Amino acid sequence: MDPLVAAIDQGTSSTRFLVFNAKTAELISHHQVEIKQRFPKEGWVEEDPKEIMLSVYECIERTCEKLCQLNIDISNIKALGVTNQRETTLVWDKETGEPLYNAIVWLDLRTQPTVERLINKAPGRNKNHLKHKTGLPISTYFSAVKLRWLLDNVDEVQQAVLSRQALFGTVDSWIIWCLTGGRNGGVHCTDVSNASRTMLFNINTMAWDPELCRYFEVPMEILPKVRSSSEIYGWMKSNSLAGVPISGCLGDQSAALVGQMCFREGQAKNTYGTGCFLLRNTGTKPVMSEHGLLTTVAYKLGKNEPACYALEGSVAIAGAVVRWLKDNMGIVQSSSEIEKLAAAAGTSYGCYFVPAFSGLYAPYWEPSARGIICGLTQFTNRKHLAFAALEAVCFQTREILDAMNQDSGVPLTELQVDGGMTSNRLLMQLQADILCIPVVRPTMSETTALGVAMAAGAAEGVDVWHLRRNLAVGAERFEPQINSDGERASSASLVGRRPSRKP
Ligand code: ADP
Repeated sequence: MDPLVAAIDQGTSSTRFLVFNAKTAELISHHQVEIKQRFPKEGWVEEDPKEIMLSVYECIERTCEKLCQLNIDISNIKALGVTNQRETTLVWDKETGEPLYNAIVWLDLRTQPTVERLINKAPGRNKNHLKHKTGLPISTYFSAVKLRWLLDNVDEVQQAVLSRQALFGTVDSWIIWCLTGGRNGGVHCTDVSNASRTMLFNINTMAWDPELCRYFEVPMEILPKVRSSSEIYGWMKSNSLAGVPISGCLGDQSAALVGQMCFREGQAKNTYGTGCFLLRNTGTKPVMSEHGLLTTVAYKLGKNEPACYALEGSVAIAGAVVRWLKDNMGIVQSSSEIEKLAAAAGTSYGCYFVPAFSGLYAPYWEPSARGIICGLTQFTNRKHLAFAALEAVCFQTREILDAMNQDSGVPLTELQVDGGMTSNRLLMQLQADILCIPVVRPTMSETTALGVAMAAGAAEGVDVWHLRRNLAVGAERFEPQINSDGERASSASLVGRRPSRKP
């Protein structure tokens, strides 16, 4: 039996556990559990850290059962990687193992006043004051401001810091700490890709930065140790996989970049999940954007390997707009239903949807923006609204791509895509039409999990995955059927749809 490598993919809307064949990259088995999002106040988004861990354990156990049913010995699993929703912030007590507050999810807007206060401290009220060190603007998005809010507002967190029992982490750190023993010797670490989203990490020196920590008034002793994305951090304790090394850790967007094999400078991918994230590999040097994009550490695949950087365009709301149409409006019963509904209209009929539920991220970074639906007529119905929601995701990506092309000076000629939303073929065709370049979707959609499985399998001491070999991964291409003047080149698709407009 070929060696197997497992991946935990802890996303905003669900947790997955997946097992891949390390020789062929074939997905052998997996299990997925939805995660409850809590909205206790307008703009607040929380998740329960214990529910996150229960979902991880459930996914592991169910997948192991499925492997047994397939007569596959789980001792063939040689390593495990963790990929995660980035920026989501947790603080827990290292003595009791208890979380001290719910996880504050990346989309959460409660820190708007904190952000204003922090920007007021910056010379010229410049939100990009820390960008030369962090690659990021001061925004509600990143972990340092969420941690500042916890330190200011939650007594339990303040007390735990004073008694030196507090540990801070993003979701990767929490999962790895729990899986390696928790209060009985759990390993408190993160990787460079996750650290680079906190605003406390200097992306030039690749270390926590005392000056940044002073700016946010964060005690450095609560921060996890920063490691590379591919090395043995510790070993699984006390479940079916006890003894398996945990040897890969990547933020979800970095993992997708690796899973799509974007190892070369200039290669890019766009992942459509809750939000939508376009990352372009810029090689071993950080490139600062002139057009509202982020500079981020993409990965460091081994202790002695160089770090690779990426330019990133982050869109806060993509799949979340579909979830909103389902949960808040009741327009569809399931996310996948939106495709049929929108296709039945074939046009938005002049209706535009700007789903700025959590402000606008790249390229605007405007936390006070809010959603709007306009262009409504007596004729507009839920099908047009569904179509406008899908178009909104595509228009936002178009803005990011334009910014990316301006920053790099070399236009992308095709876009590799992945993520939950890409099962929507109408969305894929719309995206190709709106970008006027082909959109390429791998047939194996779990590229995020694949990326971190690759990092885990390739770690020194595991050595079951050869990173840069060419895997014969199948893909489907969606060619643009509208030319750059907005004219339909063929009438084959989207019958009745009016030509798309530029955003
Ligand atoms: P995350 O990693 O952020 O948890 P996923 O990659 O699992 O996200 O994708 C889930 C998101 O994609 C949800 O917001 C869901 O509404 C949306 N989604 C899933 N399937 C479809 C579909 N067929 N059409 C449109 N949106 C979809």
